[in-house]
Amino acid sequence: AQRILVVGGVGGGATVSAQIRRNDKDVEIIIFDKGEHVAFSNCGMPYYLGGVIENKEDILVPVDKFREKYAVDVRTGTEVTSIHRSEKKVLVKDKSGEYEESYDKLIISPGASAVVPDVEGRDEACVFTLRTIPDMEEIHQFIERNQPKNAAIIGGGFIGLEMAENLHERGITCTVIDRSSQVMKVVDKDMAEVIHEHLREKGIKLILDDGLAGYSNNGKTVHLSSGDTLQADMTLMATGVKPNTGLAEAASLKLGRSGAIAVNEYMQTNDPDIYALGDAVETKDFFTGEPRHVALAWPAHRQAYLIASHLAGEQVNNHGIIGTSIFKLFDLTIGSTGHNKETLKDAGIPYKEASLETYSHAKYYPGSEKLWLKILFDADKGTIYGCDVIGLDGADKRLGVLATAIRGKLTVADLEELELGYAPPYSAPKDPINILGYKANQQM
Ligand code: FAD
Repeated sequence: AQRILVVGGVGGGATVSAQIRRNDKDVEIIIFDKGEHVAFSNCGMPYYLGGVIENKEDILVPVDKFREKYAVDVRTGTEVTSIHRSEKKVLVKDKSGEYEESYDKLIISPGASAVVPDVEGRDEACVFTLRTIPDMEEIHQFIERNQPKNAAIIGGGFIGLEMAENLHERGITCTVIDRSSQVMKVVDKDMAEVIHEHLREKGIKLILDDGLAGYSNNGKTVHLSSGDTLQADMTLMATGVKPNTGLAEAASLKLGRSGAIAVNEYMQTNDPDIYALGDAVETKDFFTGEPRHVALAWPAHRQAYLIASHLAGEQVNNHGIIGTSIFKLFDLTIGSTGHNKETLKDAGIPYKEASLETYSHAKYYPGSEKLWLKILFDADKGTIYGCDVIGLDGADKRLGVLATAIRGKLTVADLEELELGYAPPYSAPKDPINILGYKANQQM
């Protein structure tokens, strides 16, 4: 039987192992993870910290259960320190020392690490990041022991904002600081204004166009680039992630333009016996075919399927990544799919835009709430390049329709024709998607 070694046992690593086992009951699979947990739900961590998920166990899969269910040799607390390609071996390190393991195929899914700016006074401050279960436990224990009253959150991306909500729900006053002029850079500026307003309404302080400069007063005073200061009992650093490429680089595996590991459409690196997936790789953009790095769970799961299929001798088409994301911020649902204005400009793609402020369903039926939609499209062909959907109700459904429309290569004219089902609690005789289509089509 083939021997497959997997580095990293969470989003990509656990998923690819389970998928390989579904295809082949004989192959030998060994997962190495330097942490103590595998197959956990990183995405659930903010909600444990906010108390929405009461038991930590609910986001953890016991290692033994995973081992048994998929007949995989799981070695936690074990770091893969180097890859020796010519001998097809890896060197691993655990509590008791170092040893080698040989492979027929190696799969690496080492994820990404939080970027932590190296500023003055950082070591005295209570600075946290949220990537791993130990990170989560550290924050949880700090909150329990120290009962912080206020928190600075550096970075207004989805982890920063999810944490602002969850810390706020625990009675901690939060200030979100972002050095750009808007939070959530995946959505366009006009749409981000809706988020800014909602944050302020909920009592989250927002400081834009200003960045972290350092700490003083035992870390309790946060200094900003503008010279302003604020008091914070804790800081959450949510300033983005960088792919973990050290292991790959040391083995001369090629990196791509984004700095993540380069792979072909079957997720093979420049060494055909080594596959890579997840937050550590760049794949191609659905629209342009150009390299693109998207650190989200969907790509990791899809890539796991592509790898398992390739190992089973099947060549599944890889159409690339559209880039669809969604998250909750208090009462808002914030979704985005495809490109925004900035990434289209960077790619040199001309576009037109249409937007709509409306209601999720018939206004006279209870529960009808505000919904904002925006679409970017090609003025000649009507090809849809990107959409943002923000709303208090019904946003996830519209995002799903628009992401599907993009994948199916529908045009803005097709959006007019989508029959999405109407009754007052759900929609209007012309769904917001239809109206968005009519508005966009008028500009063609
Ligand atoms: P990971 O899941 O991070 O796994 C990498 C693993 O590799 C780690 O366990 C690490 O210990 C191990 N490792 C690294 N190097 C080595 C080595 N040399 N030897 C052994 N082990 C090693 N995505 C969404 O789509 N939706 C969400 O709502 C969402 N919420 C998130 C919330 C948070 C707080 C975080 C942190 C992430 C969230 N994500 C979300 C992103 C999603 O979790 C990742 O895209 C996904 O987990 C990527 O999988 P991965 O295998 O690349 O990396």
